[in-house]
Amino acid sequence: MGIINQLDRHVAELIAAGEVVERPASIVKEVVENAIDAGATAITVEIKNGGMTFIRVTDNGSGICRDDVKIAFLSHATSKIRTEEDLDGIMTMGFRGEALASIAAVSKVELLTRCEEELEGTRFVIEGSAEQEISPAGCPKGTTIIVRDLFYNTPARLKFIKKDTSEANAVAGVLDKIAVSYPEVSFKFIRDGVLKLNTPGDCDLLSAVYAVYGKNFAKGLTKLQYNSGLISIHGLITKPEYSRANRSMQNFFINKRFVKSRTCAAALEEAYKGAIMIGKFPACILNLTIEPHTVDVNVHPAKIEVRFENEKTIFDLVYFGVKNALSTLKAPEMAALHK
Ligand code: ADP
Ligand code: MG
Repeated sequence: MGIINQLDRHVAELIAAGEVVERPASIVKEVVENAIDAGATAITVEIKNGGMTFIRVTDNGSGICRDDVKIAFLSHATSKIRTEEDLDGIMTMGFRGEALASIAAVSKVELLTRCEEELEGTRFVIEGSAEQEISPAGCPKGTTIIVRDLFYNTPARLKFIKKDTSEANAVAGVLDKIAVSYPEVSFKFIRDGVLKLNTPGDCDLLSAVYAVYGKNFAKGLTKLQYNSGLISIHGLITKPEYSRANRSMQNFFINKRFVKSRTCAAALEEAYKGAIMIGKFPACILNLTIEPHTVDVNVHPAKIEVRFENEKTIFDLVYFGVKNALSTLKAPEMAALHK
């Protein structure tokens, strides 16, 4: 007799959830990215107990129409791509259609949403993949999602969760990066009732960086804007006299997505060679705009790692962009360059 059976939906989703939902910070990342993809200009994130008991994300984006609400929570259900070809030109943060299904598999979710075309919104409650309630509800255009009691049904996962402060710090770290890559969006972060972050959403990168990392960090930066054919790089880099003791503040974004890239980091440091002391490091917030088909974001669900079609092109873009910005610094800053 055969021994193979196909797993039921809930078990399959629990397994998939293990990939996407590691801790509260991963939920916040997915849900905030959904808000950005929905065109939100104001996003508020509230957490309690490091996000383990309560996460609420409110956005003023497109909202979800009533007929789509349940579908949004199915795995591999997405409005962002349709065909295989679409995978080559991803312009949105999400595209796998896994996040809501995964989150709902391991927590208790309440969604309130209204799209432009509908006068009445929808309230949907789903716990451990099981639908509890769907009903009409009055609400403004946009979406509020509340995630309660993360991992309540998977006690084994709870063991890997750190203290509330560590989890809250991880959430803050995720938001810091998203906030500086979207200066056109106003972000608020409220932790256990205390407002921790408030970016203006005025489209100015420096004001977002100021709000996130503070005045002292912001004043050590200079602007960079450089085009090379169809690709470009812009952002802020360290003035040489403000170099830092470590690499922790080197932030790269590809098409607004935070990435870890050795190529970019190597190019940055190469460009600063001779400009800063050995053992000191530049900081940066740099956004590379490249053709979406030349980068593969499909490497891992957390999508931090990327692969480039042509690493050399990326290296050169960062290297020459940074060199160019450093060369335009004024005389006293140039003097520091040659110290
Ligand atoms: P993905 O983002 O990969 O498409 P998700 O599971 O995160 O998958 O979301 C499923 C779908 O639900 C999205 O494609 C989108 O249509 C809809 N959705 C999710 N969150 C929001 C939101 N905040 N505003 C509007 N639509 C949303
Ligand atoms: Mg998503």
